[in-house]
Amino acid sequence: MTRPEEGTRVHVGDMDSEEFRRQGYAVIDRIAEYLENGHELPVLAPVSRGVLLDVLPSEPPSHGESMDEILADYDRFILPATTHWNQPGFLAYFANSGSGPGILGETLAAGLNVNAMLWRTSPSGTELEEVAVDWLRQMVGLPAEFEGVINDTASSSTLYALAAARELASDLRIRAEGLAGRPDVPRLRVYCSEESHSSVDKAVITLGLGLSGVRHIPTDNKYSMDADALAAAIAEDRAAGIRPLAVVATVGTTSTTAIDPVPRIAEICEREGLWLHVDAAYGGPAAIVPEMRWIMDGAERAHSIVINPHKWLFVPMDCSILYTKRPELMRAAFSLTPEYLTTTDSSDVKNLMDYGVSLGRRFRALKLWFVLRYFGVEGIAQRLREHLRLARLFATWVDDSGDFERLAPTRFSVVAFRSTPAGMSEEQLDAHNAQLMEKVNATGEIFISHTRAKGRFALRVAIGNIRTTEEHVRRTWDMLQEFARA
Ligand code: PLP
Repeated sequence: MTRPEEGTRVHVGDMDSEEFRRQGYAVIDRIAEYLENGHELPVLAPVSRGVLLDVLPSEPPSHGESMDEILADYDRFILPATTHWNQPGFLAYFANSGSGPGILGETLAAGLNVNAMLWRTSPSGTELEEVAVDWLRQMVGLPAEFEGVINDTASSSTLYALAAARELASDLRIRAEGLAGRPDVPRLRVYCSEESHSSVDKAVITLGLGLSGVRHIPTDNKYSMDADALAAAIAEDRAAGIRPLAVVATVGTTSTTAIDPVPRIAEICEREGLWLHVDAAYGGPAAIVPEMRWIMDGAERAHSIVINPHKWLFVPMDCSILYTKRPELMRAAFSLTPEYLTTTDSSDVKNLMDYGVSLGRRFRALKLWFVLRYFGVEGIAQRLREHLRLARLFATWVDDSGDFERLAPTRFSVVAFRSTPAGMSEEQLDAHNAQLMEKVNATGEIFISHTRAKGRFALRVAIGNIRTTEEHVRRTWDMLQEFARA
């Protein structure tokens, strides 16, 4: 065997620990500085397509570069091209937070770099997940029969829940035989409201039911699913030879944070033998606040529930928990063990690979556990309560002003509203509010987003970042009034 001469040998192996320590401190310093002063950066990145594509080399470096250079380019190129979700002026979509303890948990998970596919490949990743998701279950008041698994997103969680719902219809043998080319399988239907998140439609497409496999039920004037219309739709479908499979009810809809009548929907599902999935991806954490516990009424009767700690629970992206009372149906949908993944571990261990599509899994429980321990149940409840208070305060300003109107009840920490100058047609109001949003966002101080509420262009102020204070909310309101007048 020939060996390269000493001196011509290429360096192999990782960064040495001394350099890692030095650069690691520099990275932590950057994060600390960002969390303290990042609010000075424009929250919505004022950049256009090509911001990085046009300036970064299109080919990889043939030789390694120094970490100092790499970090300098992070400061120079990456930060300015970032929309700052983790800053207090972010009031768009569902604002979220990477809190201090969450970021530290994420950092340690990166250091361990475990793959929690099997219990034996990560006993800590598996069992800490079991502990942390059960803590959260207790915090939101769900019964002990719910078992949880952490996924990347609510979109995956809902997909997996509906895959398990398909297993509930075991007579169809879909896992074994699929759907294509089978005249013996009727058309299948999933129901959700017209306000449900598009992830339900995506799940239904992915599961091979086709977009016509989802039926959107009308909502009432508070944007909540009309349960009578649901019952009628199921009856109509059955009469037409369509087989209902599942209903998705939402606690905190995406546009206006409406709450579907879950107890009534549960009753219908029980009567009809349908899987009930509750999408509490955004709204679920509010149940930690004792006076908000009622929002989950009826959810205890569901087969599955999704709650996203990465939305409104101060856990960094990504972390979505799928709870189910029927874990055996999740496994029926997804468990498949090739020889190389078989183990002699005891039969009661949980192998996380059995609960979804992905085999490899990150150690997401660590950051969740850090956040729950660091703030505690009371500390989390206080922070959520403050967000609820800020949203109500903003709603009061809207209601008391003669020039704005609220377009939906403020159930959680989001206010949907619009500016209503006198004498404008609906079309003009839409255009006026769209412009208003652009003006606020162009300041770089605040970032808000929009939706359509019963056809009307609605502005949304979404409070969810752990560092957002009354000052930010007040500033947003002042700006809106000033720009609307102008
Ligand atoms: N469900 C609701 C109610 C949502 O608002 C969203 C996204 O905002 C989702 C599901 C999808 O979430 P994720 O991004 O985790 O897939």
